[in-house]
Amino acid sequence: MDLGLKGRVAIVAAASKGLGRAAAEEFAKEGCEVAICARTAANLERTANEIGKANNRAVFWRAVDVTKPEAVRAFVEEVDKKYGRIDICVTNAGGPPAKKFLDISLEDWRAAVELTLLSNVYFAREVLPRMQRNHWGRLLTITSVSVKQPIDGLLLSNTLRAGVAGLAKTLANEFGADGITVNNVCPGFTLTDRLEELVELRAKDAGISREQAIKNMSAQVPAGRLAQPEEFAALVTFLASERASYINGTTIAVDGGLVKGLL
Ligand code: NAP
Repeated sequence: MDLGLKGRVAIVAAASKGLGRAAAEEFAKEGCEVAICARTAANLERTANEIGKANNRAVFWRAVDVTKPEAVRAFVEEVDKKYGRIDICVTNAGGPPAKKFLDISLEDWRAAVELTLLSNVYFAREVLPRMQRNHWGRLLTITSVSVKQPIDGLLLSNTLRAGVAGLAKTLANEFGADGITVNNVCPGFTLTDRLEELVELRAKDAGISREQAIKNMSAQVPAGRLAQPEEFAALVTFLASERASYINGTTIAVDGGLVKGLL
């Protein structure tokens, strides 16, 4: 299937590793101009070089903290200036800390609002008017299966990602007539550094080994295993493509069947 992505300009936030990196790699393979950001310049530069080398194209990168609206604005402006437009934007950030309710301070709550909810708003504010002008755009928010089925112990994530799903659905209504689709994608248990953190936490809480914790997680999934980041990135790439032109306002999980609800 020709996804029609060749030459499209794609921003992927929080993409030096994990799910963001996997999405950036797929966009590069499909012939997009790719721009990535994360906080740590050294990792980001290495990732951009690796993706660039593998796909014979330069990958634009800037060290940006997605909780800083001015930094997000400057990044989007720079990408727009360099490539002349923004077609695709995948919003993403590191996960908020995994804590139980009584251990979460008000500062934790405020920081998580910035990281998990407002970072999506910062990007949406910058990219949507640009996409509107070109009458074409794809905005994708990365959240979690927790928007469909809350995950025990991930209170900040469970609470704030539901807000992101609400944001994406409402933006889809507001910008649908402008040739823009907005969809929300929900990773299940996917083998990245973030998952490693959760595995360690679960192992510690239950007094079991890391391997046993992974076995227990895998047993919750009908597929019987955890996901690879590229399995998630395949959906992101499709939703960003020309071929997904009538998929709008959805929340789709890539979870091997983990969510037990019907929708
Ligand atoms: P990861 O492997 O830990 O990668 C996180 C990426 O985000 C890194 O590139 C990191 O680079 C960047 N980042 C973190 N905070 C940032 C900030 N404030 N500004 C800019 N970049 C930032 O995580 P992942 O597994 O890819 O997860 C991505 C998102 O999906 C997270 O929100 C996670 O909670 C969620 N999720 C993951 C899973 C899973 O199983 N992996 C499941 C459900 C949901 P720097 O540290 O250098 O900034």
